[in-house]
Amino acid sequence: MATCCDDNEHDPNAKSVEEALAIILAQSRSPEESMILPLDLALDRVLARDLLAPQAIPAWPNSAMDGYAVRVADGISPRKIVGSAYAGRPYVGTVLAGTAVRIMTGAPLPEGADAVVAQEQCTADDQTLQLTHYPKQQENIRGIGEDLACGDLALAAGTWLRPSRIALAASLGVAEIEVFRPLRVAFFSTGDELQGLGESLRFGNIYDSNRHSLLALLRRLPLEVYDLGRIPDDQERIAETLQRAARMADLVITSGGVSVGDADYIARLLRDLGSVQFWKMNMKPGRPLAYGRIGDADFFGLPGNPVSTIVTFYQFVRPALLKRMGVHAPWTVPSIRLPAAEPFRKKAGRTDFQRGRLVAGESGLAVAPVKAQSSHILTGMALADCFVILPAAATDIPVGSLVDVQLLEGLV
Ligand code: AMP
Ligand code: MG
Repeated sequence: MATCCDDNEHDPNAKSVEEALAIILAQSRSPEESMILPLDLALDRVLARDLLAPQAIPAWPNSAMDGYAVRVADGISPRKIVGSAYAGRPYVGTVLAGTAVRIMTGAPLPEGADAVVAQEQCTADDQTLQLTHYPKQQENIRGIGEDLACGDLALAAGTWLRPSRIALAASLGVAEIEVFRPLRVAFFSTGDELQGLGESLRFGNIYDSNRHSLLALLRRLPLEVYDLGRIPDDQERIAETLQRAARMADLVITSGGVSVGDADYIARLLRDLGSVQFWKMNMKPGRPLAYGRIGDADFFGLPGNPVSTIVTFYQFVRPALLKRMGVHAPWTVPSIRLPAAEPFRKKAGRTDFQRGRLVAGESGLAVAPVKAQSSHILTGMALADCFVILPAAATDIPVGSLVDVQLLEGLV
C-alpha cells in the first residue's frame, strides 16, 4: 500500500513539479477589479494600468554638478562670470561668448551654454573663471527626457509598487494611481492533535505551527488575510469551514488532512463540495497536494508536515497568488546558480527542495545543505536562508557543482 513518507522511490503516477505549476498558473485568473488610491497609500499594491510619462523627465536640461555653465567654443580662455543659477531659481539671461554662469546641481542650464565644468576643474574669483581643462560638448548636463520622454512607458500594468516605483510615479507628478483590488485569502489548519499556543502541551498533541507559518507567509504579500482557526478532524466542521472560507475569499488554503489516512477528510469532502484534484507530487518534501476550486474560490490543500507546508506554499501557492494579484510574470521564486560548498545527498526520482544556507565560498557565495532535511523538522527550515532545487533525475551532488538556489529573503 502506498504511504505518505519521504522515501525516494519514483512513483510513475506522481505529478511533476513543472506540470503541477503549469496547471495551477493556467487556472489562476488575473484580477479585473481595480481602485484608485492616493499614491502614498499604494505601496505594495499592484498597478492596474500602464503609467505613461505625462511629461519628459528631466523636463529641461539641467546641471549634474556644482560648477560653471560655459560655451565649449570659448576653449580654455578666461570667462567673465555674469550670474548664478540655482535649483528652483534659474538664471534668466543668456551665456554669451566669453562669459560663464555659476551653476548648482539641478539648476536649469541657461540659454547659450553647452557644457558645465565642475568647480573642481577650474579656479575662480568673484568675476573671472579660469578652466584647467578643455570642456566637452554636453559635459555634466542631464539632457531633456534623458530618463523618460513624454508618453514613454514609466511603469507597466502588473508592476508591484515597491518604494522605488512610488518614487518614479511621484517624480512624474502622479498624485493618484490605479491599482488592483487586494486579493482575499482565507486559511485554516486541520487536525485533532493541534493545540493553540500558550498552553502546556497535552499528551499526544502538538502546537499548531502551520497556521502561524501560513499567516506569516501570507503577511509578506499585500493580501487581505482571514485566519479561520484550527479545525478538528470532523467532516462536518471541515465542510462548514471550507464553505465559509470559499464565500469570503478568492483563495482558500488548508493544512493537513490531504493524505490517505483514516482522518484525512479534505480529499473526500472536496470531491462533494468542489472540483478538486489530488496530486501525489513527485517532489520532496511535500508529496500530497490538493488543488482546485470550491465555489468561486481557488483551493490549495497543503500537506500537514510543517516543512512541506512551507515548501509547497513557496512553490505553488505563492506563484498562484502573484498571478491572481495581477503581478506580471515571472511568478515563481527566482533562482540563481551557486556552487555547492558541501556535498548534497540525493537519490534519483523526485525533485528535491533541500534547505540550504549561504556560505562564503573560495570565489564568492556558495551554498551548503542544513543538517536536518526531514519534512517534519522545522529547525532545518528555520536555519535555512534558501531552497536548493535538485532536479528529479539528479543523484548526489559533489562539492563545486552548480545548483539552483532560491533565496528566501528579499529586499524591496
Ligand atoms: P496530515 O497531513 O494531516 O496527515 O499531517 C502530517 C503530519 O503533519 C502529522 O505529523 C501532523 O501531526 C503534522 N501536522 C498537521 N497539521 C499540522 C499543523 N497545523 N502544525 C504542525 N504540524 C501539523
Ligand atoms: Mg491530519
